[in-house]
Amino acid sequence: MRFTMFNGGRLGLIHEDRIWDLTSLLESESTGELGGSMLDLIRNWEDVRPKLEGEDLTELPELTISDVSLEPPLPLPGKIVAAPVNYMDHKQEMNVKGTIADLGVFLKASSSVIGPGDVIEIPYNDRRTDQEGELAFVIGKTARRVSASEALDHVFGYTCLLDISIRGQEDRSTRKSFDTFTPIGPWITTKDEVGDPGGLDLRCWVNEELRQEANTRDLIYGVPRLIEYASSVMTLYPGDIITSGTPAGVGPIMDGDRVVVEIERVGRLEVGVSGKQATSSPKQGVSETLGSR
Ligand code: MN
Repeated sequence: MRFTMFNGGRLGLIHEDRIWDLTSLLESESTGELGGSMLDLIRNWEDVRPKLEGEDLTELPELTISDVSLEPPLPLPGKIVAAPVNYMDHKQEMNVKGTIADLGVFLKASSSVIGPGDVIEIPYNDRRTDQEGELAFVIGKTARRVSASEALDHVFGYTCLLDISIRGQEDRSTRKSFDTFTPIGPWITTKDEVGDPGGLDLRCWVNEELRQEANTRDLIYGVPRLIEYASSVMTLYPGDIITSGTPAGVGPIMDGDRVVVEIERVGRLEVGVSGKQATSSPKQGVSETLGSR
């Protein structure tokens, strides 16, 4: 199943070009804790899922996707855990020494999330801002020190993610946490529809240019290992997002660009780019005294 948020915080179930509004259904069955939000759906998924599968959807409000305003499918995730250098070809293009095995994971600010059709705001007109197309997943069950073999039990579903980044020497959490720097969507596809996350084609375009073309089988830490590793550091809660890292082909984006990331069996996310708010940066982001730590 594919779920998203739309029209001012309503919860939608998507099938082909139709969207069913689940908001009232969930509220009517809610004890107060189960609201219409995606997080409530995720937290209560084991109870809600059989109801949805048995529900006659024709009794619910039904709309056409093109008539609604899609929003980020998970507007304010608890945290966004991200993987640096998790494809060998990206390591080579960035000319860096370590991989995720050396670097660990980093965090992106939850406030950087935007959704389909939204616009990435370039912060600085004198710095390079790049696109990074990535497979991301949403945690469904609390995970603390889980093994790779049990990891996928803790996944709710998958979504496309753009890990937008300025280049330079600041910490990753700074360079990748500007407002609008984490487009996700266009929906969350439940894991049963995706199957093995270790064999998905991923493509990313900027305008007509195909910049990234990869398969998630080439991830250094695949999804299970990522969960094993991240959950050995921090407890993962329902609604947390983990993004798996980007393959080769990152490059600058500019005012007026359209960025698309498409992942097999997951979805196709498109956003715009604006440089109209860009200012000069407080630093050039390069310091010889800092070196390449
Ligand atoms: Mn990335």
